[in-house]
Amino acid sequence: MAKDYYEKLGVSRSATQDDIKKAFRKLAREWHPDVNKNAGAETRFKEINEAFQTLGDPEKRKHYDQFGSAPGQASSGGAGFEDMFDRGFEDIFESFGFTSRKRKGGDLRYEVEMTLEQAFEGATKKIRFPHFEECRSCKGTGASSLKTCSECHGSGEIKRVQRSFLGQFISVMTCSRCRGTGKTAEKVCRECGGAGGSQIEKEVEVEIPAGADDGQYIRFAGQGGPGENGGPYGDLYVLIRLKEHPVFEREGNDLYCTVYIDLGTAMLGGEVEIKTIDGKATLIIPHGTQSHTIFRMKGEGMPIPGSSRRGDQMVKIIVEIPKKLTREQEERLRGAFEKNVETKKGFFERVREFI
Ligand SMILES: [Zn+2]
Ligand SMILES: [Zn+2]
Repeated sequence: MAKDYYEKLGVSRSATQDDIKKAFRKLAREWHPDVNKNAGAETRFKEINEAFQTLGDPEKRKHYDQFGSAPGQASSGGAGFEDMFDRGFEDIFESFGFTSRKRKGGDLRYEVEMTLEQAFEGATKKIRFPHFEECRSCKGTGASSLKTCSECHGSGEIKRVQRSFLGQFISVMTCSRCRGTGKTAEKVCRECGGAGGSQIEKEVEVEIPAGADDGQYIRFAGQGGPGENGGPYGDLYVLIRLKEHPVFEREGNDLYCTVYIDLGTAMLGGEVEIKTIDGKATLIIPHGTQSHTIFRMKGEGMPIPGSSRRGDQMVKIIVEIPKKLTREQEERLRGAFEKNVETKKGFFERVREFI
């Protein structure tokens, strides 16, 4: 077991949900980075929070007791995509009335539909989404001149003594009047009327790399929503959706297609021109090829990201058997089979005549 959540919260395995909640609150107050300025407090707080996210939820706790990990945690892979949905940490700040002053902007998720050909070559896609553009004139404050907030006297925080069955403690809330900035408007900005900016439609161009696959997320750092109180921008996640292709099916870096050939080519062998994702290639059909045989054309598949190689193209051969014959063809074919106790070559030649 990688992490013992019970140990992190200092409770026994038989602790009730209530015990866990109490233990968490106590530890969270002790280790909250706004309160505890010791090095490592933030890490400790995150650990406590992580433990509580699992043990505080009876379902997740059950899973943890059984498997030693929180649901969905066992498989670590992917590039931290889970993080983007992990709002738990911020929720805790809010539920305790703590708010970190600088906060990273929200992450955006956007779906981009593309063809297999575009995925093969890589593509530039334009993405439009609503975006709050900060007013240039007042830099988002909504005021042309500022004064010290009368509510919090410039600290940006309101401290309150709270009594609960756990005892007395001080909660620190972000000042709602100045939203934690410690300043309010003296004169409202004329440009934005005090709103601090306006909702616009932002357009960004994103480069989708060659080889992108359906269901894959590509992260564009700093292209998400604006941060609060000078916090950094969030990230933009682009989900790739590949359109169905009329010829190819894709599996990883390989492409699959089906090609119909005539009976003669199947029996006698020959060359067949095959469509590839970026052109054509010649496939040699060996003599006596059976229907449903799959041939591999090396290096004709999708580009492998981060390498100069390509996957393969798998070609499934279907041999078309003629459905209708003229009486003459029928007789000649019958003749070909009847007389065929001789050499194989003689037989094939007669079939060729027939075709
Ligand atoms: Zn303004
Ligand atoms: Zn204030």
